[in-house]
Amino acid sequence: MSDKKGLASLAGAPDQSMFKLLGQVRAMSSSRDREQMTLRLVTAMRDVLGASGVTLYAVSASPSGPVGAIVAVATQSGEHVANEDEEHPPVALHDDSFLDTAIRSRDGVAEENDEGNYRLALAMGDPGNPHALLVATSNAAPEPRVRDAFLHVAHFYQNQLDLLDYAELDTLTHLLNRKTFDENFDRFIASVGRSQQANPERRQEDAADRPSWLGVIDIDKFKRINDTFGHLFGDEVLLRVAELMKHSFRQRDKLFRFGGEEFVVLLRNTSETDARAIFERFREAVETHEFPQVGQVTASAGYTRINPSLPPAEMLGHADEALYFSKENGRNQVNCYEDLVDRGLIEGPKQTDNNTELQADIDALFD
Ligand code: GH3
Ligand code: MG
Ligand code: MG
Repeated sequence: MSDKKGLASLAGAPDQSMFKLLGQVRAMSSSRDREQMTLRLVTAMRDVLGASGVTLYAVSASPSGPVGAIVAVATQSGEHVANEDEEHPPVALHDDSFLDTAIRSRDGVAEENDEGNYRLALAMGDPGNPHALLVATSNAAPEPRVRDAFLHVAHFYQNQLDLLDYAELDTLTHLLNRKTFDENFDRFIASVGRSQQANPERRQEDAADRPSWLGVIDIDKFKRINDTFGHLFGDEVLLRVAELMKHSFRQRDKLFRFGGEEFVVLLRNTSETDARAIFERFREAVETHEFPQVGQVTASAGYTRINPSLPPAEMLGHADEALYFSKENGRNQVNCYEDLVDRGLIEGPKQTDNNTELQADIDALFD
């Protein structure tokens, strides 16, 4: 439970709430997991402020102004990270004058509302264009010292996230890097499998109607771009293709730079029709983009439906086969592995029956 005195008692000798706060900060510093770190942040804020609720929003731009999507919540009854599958309607930040002021402020803002409740909000990132907003509600006014502690912990969290970014992101494109893919792919597949088991009714519907997909994208004739215009312009193409990916795919999709001019995409819970439309939208965005000096660039892609019972390497192989088909058939196109197999355009997966193979191996030993 929270300490209602909050940090007010920090002025004197170190007390419980100070140690509690230090404990959370230490836990945050030893975590390498974004979700864990975020949970620690909202929990620490709730406990230190004696807040009734703390919400962390991810802030992004929309045509009607900045919007906030809930990332994590801590209340008196518990704390949780928003599930990627939950579709929370984004909060229009301009509509709430307090939040609107908060996203422009560097040092956080506080207000008392008509019901005698207090809100404290802190933007993270560039003032005016922050990437996150932390909002706490409490029924006692937070003291200046408490606000200072709030600021320090939020900045500490931000610094920890920057360190994680440095380890997980590709330095050129800021997409997730290959190492992150290798370390998380199994986990992602396992979570698709788990979610299919967790809520059988809805999940089976999801598995059937909104499966997950693995796509491989490769820039066409990229070597020629490098050879003709030099590596610097080649790098600029990579950077812009990554930007086009960020705009074409959705926020919850995972985008990786796999190496060189190859990218990998994980689309979660998307119908077959939507998956095709999303890949097509990206392909078209590249084709119609005017790249500086280079002019037109195209990309090819191949994707496959994620089947948690297949080894990850096999699924990657399937997406690669579909990509290879795109390359062989004129480039600047997108193909789905299962679709190509159904249409008899490529050979389907070999029906390896492990038991039969094993038996054959055993038989061979005795021949
Ligand atoms: P295809 O349409 O068949 O994909 O042809 P391609 O020329 O794109 O294929 P290939 O894989 O042969 O060429 C990829 C080139 O990408 C080779 C390498 O010089 C270049 N490359 C790899 N990494 C980088 C990078 O980080 N920056 C730049 N500028 N070039 C890179
Ligand atoms: Mg390549
Ligand atoms: Mg290429």
